[in-house]
Amino acid sequence: MKPIGESIACDRVALQRQLLASGRFFKLICGAGNEDAEEVYKLSLVYTLAGAAGIDLSARPDVVRAARRAVEDAQARVRAAGRPEPPSPYLTVSVGMPGDPHVRKARIIQDACTQCNACIPVCPTEAIPSSLVIIESRCIGCGACSVACQDDAVSYTHKTIEMEAVLRDCLAAGAENIELHAAVRDHEPVLKEWELVTRLLPGQFVSVCLDRGYLSNRELQVRIERMLELAHGRMIVQADGIPMSGGRDDYNTTLQAVATADVVAKTKLPVHLLLSGGTNAKTAQLARLCGVPFAGVSVGTFARHLVYEEINAPAFPGGGTLESAVEKADALVQACLQDGSP
Ligand code: SF4
Repeated sequence: MKPIGESIACDRVALQRQLLASGRFFKLICGAGNEDAEEVYKLSLVYTLAGAAGIDLSARPDVVRAARRAVEDAQARVRAAGRPEPPSPYLTVSVGMPGDPHVRKARIIQDACTQCNACIPVCPTEAIPSSLVIIESRCIGCGACSVACQDDAVSYTHKTIEMEAVLRDCLAAGAENIELHAAVRDHEPVLKEWELVTRLLPGQFVSVCLDRGYLSNRELQVRIERMLELAHGRMIVQADGIPMSGGRDDYNTTLQAVATADVVAKTKLPVHLLLSGGTNAKTAQLARLCGVPFAGVSVGTFARHLVYEEINAPAFPGGGTLESAVEKADALVQACLQDGSP
């Protein structure tokens, strides 16, 4: 007979497989680079109540603990209201290869900057204050500031972490999945980190986030085939559009996410495909129209912005702010399901 902990873990893997197979895996992306534990708590609270199946987090134990606390608080609220408790969302921690934009941090080179302030309004996370010293914990490395910069004054750094130790701490704090952001050219360094990820989570789902920034369609397929050798039957591919963050709710913004997923789907490789990067409330609809199969949608900037007004209100979660945020988030979650509306 299996120990109780092990059988709960097996049930959780089976449930995740079912959610992915049915195209009902909505994942909130708090941001691989978002180290603001308080914001993560608020977002996780709202989206757990809205029925998110997964929450994607920066690989920091304090951030994982904040999300775990939010999930528990959400479930306590549901219990107190006498409603059936929703399944607890799967917490994923994101780590990345040096060079992948999801795990880099922007810095404004003050000597080169002419203080035109063009970067301030384009930042999706409000990480650039009027002092133009970027708030590192909020930066998700999206690159919008460097696109807006007329002075070429933005540079990027990649924080070196001791990957195995950090991931073990995150798993101990309550993470269940790991996602490797691997939008870099060379296969070999990616496969080395992938070996670590698959070893740390034997038998559980592991995810890779890929885009077509450096990889041809053929090389994208080769990378997935090689990664599958270590994770057959339990591999999620998060197909990322470029740019990686959108914010607008139109078809054009989400077009590249669907296009990347289309390329992966046509390989017919046995992976669970999540759409990501510029995703919004139109993504699932566009994928359905294009005949692109998907296991779910991962939404970052758009999902966060949708509820910023409420979660940043001084009264949050009181004064009706939580209810209002959950209502908006719920509509987004429903729109992102394979069988969702419209
Ligand atoms: Fe970071 Fe993007 Fe904001 Fe630049 S625009 S500071 S890369 S989050």
